[in-house]
Amino acid sequence: MATITVTDKSKVKNKEKDLKEATTSKDLDEVLHNVKKIDNTCSFVKCKKRTNDFAIECKYCKGRFCPTHGLPEIHGCGDAVRKDEKQRYLHPNTKLTEEKHSQAQTKLNMKLKQMQQERKSKQGFTNKKGKQ
Ligand SMILES: [Zn+2]
Ligand SMILES: [Zn+2]
Repeated sequence: MATITVTDKSKVKNKEKDLKEATTSKDLDEVLHNVKKIDNTCSFVKCKKRTNDFAIECKYCKGRFCPTHGLPEIHGCGDAVRKDEKQRYLHPNTKLTEEKHSQAQTKLNMKLKQMQQERKSKQGFTNKKGKQ
């Protein structure tokens, strides 16, 4: 029997651990059955509701929950939501600026490469022709 220990902090099942335990069996059918069972039940601890028909996936903990436990505040992701909201409030355009930054970075890299190539080809050119 596999015992699932859960820390007081987390209200969410440790599916990775469960999955590891489920896949220890050498019987492939049993492993598949166990994995399916874990994947099709609500991620909330003590909740055994099936989620194969309808599941709410939490973007914070990546858990799949039944409608009762789908809200982040209910299954323990309330802090993550508040953090996220605060982050958005403080830096509303974080994502945008990040994208712009990476775009600028690639442009810079391209420019540098271009310059290097130009220098190389120039060197080759002057070497062939000798000093001007
Ligand atoms: Zn969550
Ligand atoms: Zn549930």
